Amino acid sequence: MTNQTRLKIATQKSGRLTDNSLDLLKKSGIKLTRSKDQLFCKARNFPLDVFFVRDDDIPAFVATDVCQIGVVGANTLKEKQLLDNDDGLNQLETLLELGFGECRLSFAVPAADEWTGPQFLDGKRIATSYKGMVQDYLDQHNLKAKIVTMEGAVEVAPRTGMADVICDLVSTGATLASNGMKEVESIFESQSVLIQNPNITDDEAEILDRLMMRIRGVKRAESSKYIMLHAPKDALEDIKAALPGSESPTVLNLQGIDDKVAIHAVCDEAVFWETMEELQARGASSILVLPIEKMSD
Ligand code: ATP
Ligand code: ZN
Repeated sequence: MTNQTRLKIATQKSGRLTDNSLDLLKKSGIKLTRSKDQLFCKARNFPLDVFFVRDDDIPAFVATDVCQIGVVGANTLKEKQLLDNDDGLNQLETLLELGFGECRLSFAVPAADEWTGPQFLDGKRIATSYKGMVQDYLDQHNLKAKIVTMEGAVEVAPRTGMADVICDLVSTGATLASNGMKEVESIFESQSVLIQNPNITDDEAEILDRLMMRIRGVKRAESSKYIMLHAPKDALEDIKAALPGSESPTVLNLQGIDDKVAIHAVCDEAVFWETMEELQARGASSILVLPIEKMSD
């Protein structure tokens, strides 16, 4: 009998994390059959089922083993853990930081106010969707304030007189600025993470290992570049030293040219224009930087 086990992953149905989550699965070679309007979608070529839910529900989906893994903002995970103080939620493991959905949870005040440090919050009214994290911050600083919980549009609270201060997610700060607010103190740095229920079966663990190998490969390939260039033989060591994050480049002879060689290398770090200029300054020419599609050890 063939093994029928399938791994289930919870992802955001529609929001800031959706495109990147689906893109990661796609780059990992996983083909999904149905449109993302439905709650549930089976992969055609891999034992994985994708559940599309609200991001706020993802930690609970994984904690209750409806799904064994999930993609969610670290902010959402932390908030649910603080609010519920439930064993299942607290045992969730973070497998990998995924490098998208980057933002921070910050206090912001009307632009004209003068922030005097955490003490400023004492006795104030704070509007937020992150009651757990705000209360945790207040407790740690021995402060008392009234928390006004709002589900969205937190940034308008001071203007309407509902609150003096807000605590909200910020990425560029443009939303705050357009509402006459300024960011004054950041309390949590976030990005999306892959989470796991620790109590999975051996069969599920086997599928997860395969998936993780692919995801790691995608992440590595994304941050790596293949670089090719020509180097004067007498500048070889100098040029090798300037290649970012590459261990042992390949050195090849160039037909008909005696004083130069070709260098091919995988660079584990970004290759910037400054890097190219530095290589040129050391004598390199014909520099080509190529994206890498797939990578394994
Ligand atoms: P849902 O309908 O699933 O409940 P939502 O409106 O609560 O969606 P989104 O606004 O899509 O959630 O944000 C999802 C996640 O994206 C956040 O929890 C956070 O991790 C991340 N994120 C990144 N940048 C920002 C930002 N500037 N503002 C809000 N969230 C951000
Ligand atoms: Zn949400």
